[in-house]
Amino acid sequence: MTRTTVKIPTPLRGFADGRAEVPVDGETVDAVVRELVQQFPKLQKHLFTPGGELRNFVSVYLNEEDIRHLQRGATPTRDGDVVAIVPAIAGGAGAAASSPPLSRDQLVRYSRHLLLPEVGVAGQKKLLRSKVLVVGAGGLGSPTSLYLAAAGVGEIGLVDFDAVDVSNLQRQVLYTTHDVGRPKLEVARERLEGLNPGVKVNLHPAPLKSANAMEILRPYDVVVDGTDNFPTRYLVNDACVLLGKPNVYGSIYRFEGQASVFDARRGPCYRCLYPEPPPADLVPSCAEAGVFGILPGIVGIMQATETVKLLLDLGEPLIGRLLLFDALAMNFRELKLRKNPDCVLCSPKPTQKGLIDYEQFCGVPAAGSQRSSSGVPEITPEELRDELASADPPMLVDVRDPPEWDIARLPSATLIPRGELPNRVSELTRARQVVVYCRSGQRSSQSTRLLLDLGFQNVRNLKGGLLAWADHIDPSMPKY
Ligand SMILES: [Zn+2]
Repeated sequence: MTRTTVKIPTPLRGFADGRAEVPVDGETVDAVVRELVQQFPKLQKHLFTPGGELRNFVSVYLNEEDIRHLQRGATPTRDGDVVAIVPAIAGGAGAAASSPPLSRDQLVRYSRHLLLPEVGVAGQKKLLRSKVLVVGAGGLGSPTSLYLAAAGVGEIGLVDFDAVDVSNLQRQVLYTTHDVGRPKLEVARERLEGLNPGVKVNLHPAPLKSANAMEILRPYDVVVDGTDNFPTRYLVNDACVLLGKPNVYGSIYRFEGQASVFDARRGPCYRCLYPEPPPADLVPSCAEAGVFGILPGIVGIMQATETVKLLLDLGEPLIGRLLLFDALAMNFRELKLRKNPDCVLCSPKPTQKGLIDYEQFCGVPAAGSQRSSSGVPEITPEELRDELASADPPMLVDVRDPPEWDIARLPSATLIPRGELPNRVSELTRARQVVVYCRSGQRSSQSTRLLLDLGFQNVRNLKGGLLAWADHIDPSMPKY
C-alpha cells in the first residue's frame, strides 16, 4: 500500500478534527481523496458534488503540481508523496476578527480591492495595519509611495532631505512646478494625504546613515529601496539583513531598470548579488548619465506591486529573481539569484555583524562634502573668469558627454569626452595653460590627474565644475 500525507487547508480543518495533516493510503490521487473522506465523512460535501465529482473550486496538488496538469484523479502516488487540497478561499471570511470593521468610507474607497478574493476585507485590513518605509522620495519613491498610499498602506515612511528642483519634474511625479524649492518631504506628505487621508505619512528628513538606519527602519514591515547612490543602497541592504526585513529593490540607468526582492531569511541579499560596489568613477549617476523619465515610473510601480504582495503574502515574490527591464526593446528578462554561501552578511557565518562606513566602502565622498580632488591643482570659478578675460586665456577642455555639452557649456571650450581624452591629448598644447571642467568637478578632477600623469604640467581642474560656475559667475547657465 502507498502511504501519502494529505495537507488539509485551514477552512476545512474543522471538518477533519482540526488536523492540518493526515496520513492516507492510496495508489492514485483519487483513491487518496476518497479514503480521506472515508476517515472524515464531514468533508464529503465540501469536496464532492452530490454526483460524486470533485468540486470544481477545489484544486488538488501532488507534490506542488496541480493534478490537472498530470493525470488528474488517476495520477499514481508513491510513498511519501504530499497531496494538498487547495480550495478557493473567499477573502476575509472569519479572519482579522480583532481589528475594527472597515468604515463605510473605507468600504467604498477600497471596494475594487474588496472584490478581489485575494485581497478582500481581511487583506485590506492587513494593508491598513502595515508600515512601509520608502528610502528616497525621487524617481522611484514617487510612483511607489503614490500607489502604496492609494492602496491603503496604513503608515508610509519617507526618507529624503532634498528640495524640489525643476530638473526633478521630468520623472518625480509626486511634485509639480508649483513646488519647486520646497522640501520634497513636505510636498510628498501633502500629496499622499491628499490622495488618501486615511494614510499616515511619517517624515524622516535626514540622510540615512549608519548611525540612524537601524532606528529608522525598525518599526517598518517592508523597506523600499528607492535610492540613487551605492552607499545608501548597501546601507539599506545591510540594515534590512540585520533586522530581518524584506528589501524591495529597484534601480534605473538610462533606459534600463532592475527590480528584485532581497529577503535574507528566504533568499539572497544585495551583497550576494554584488559583494562590492563598482569603483566610484565607473558608474555615472543619473545626473551625469541621464535617465528616461518614464523608466522609474515602471520600476517604481513594480516595487509597489512587490511590496503589497509581500504585505498580503500573495503570489510569487521576486525573491531570488532579478528582473531586468529594457524600455527601448520593451522587454523583460529574468535571472536567477542564488544566496552566496560566503556572503559576508547573510551567510550562516557572517563576518560583518553590524553597519559599516558605507561612503568609505564605496569610495565616494560623504553627501555634501567636497571630494579632495586627489590633490590635483584647482582653479576657482572667480579665478577662471579673470584668466579668461586676460591677454593669455587658458585652453578650456570640457570632458563631459555630448548631450551635456548641448545643455550648457563655457564659451571657447573644446569638447573632449573623458573616455576619448587618452587618444586626443595631441589636441592639447603643452605650452599653454589648460583648465579641465565637467558638471560638478569630479570627472574633470580624474581627467586632470590623467593629464598630469601623461606629463602635462599646466593643467588645473575647475573646482565645483559648471554647477559652481552657475552659482558664482553666470546665474543664467542652466544647472542640470
Ligand atoms: Zn547575502
